[in-house]
Amino acid sequence: MSAKYLLPCKCGQRHEVDVSQSGLTIECSCGAGLEVPTLRGLQKLERAGAEGERRRFAWGAREGTIVIGILITAAGLGLAIWFLLTPPKHPSEWVEVASQRMPSRPAELFRAYVVLKKNGFDDTIPPVVIAHERYAELYQVGTVIFFVIAGVGVLTIVLAFVAYGPSQRPRR
Ligand SMILES: [Zn+2]
Repeated sequence: MSAKYLLPCKCGQRHEVDVSQSGLTIECSCGAGLEVPTLRGLQKLERAGAEGERRRFAWGAREGTIVIGILITAAGLGLAIWFLLTPPKHPSEWVEVASQRMPSRPAELFRAYVVLKKNGFDDTIPPVVIAHERYAELYQVGTVIFFVIAGVGVLTIVLAFVAYGPSQRPRR
């Protein structure tokens, strides 16, 4: 299929022509005769359908950005919520020593440490507990990071609306 071009008339109408019509004269509804140029001349004209393609592209870019924003938001929120719902499991030794629950405050941690020492479990906090603490911290940081990512996704959606406008109605 050969490319179609828009041949303008002085009256403002535009006529779709292609290279097979080169040299022919087409008659506009206003009565003017328009000579269809050769390929070289045609290529300087606006391509028929190009406007439609641009419109589709603008629509696509906007929609695409929004879809990407939604995906980023969903991924960030999903991971953040998953992190919140599945906190790191307590090491069993720690649960035994520290009254069935994880100390969350330094004072509790210190008391648990004293209990550990008194019980002769070890003279330091067991490596598994330290590892768990570090892991729990990473988990919290990770949750915050995923919420930030979700925020970036929301921002992307907002920017898509700002950049491309709320309506995809073609400008005329
Ligand atoms: Zn005309």
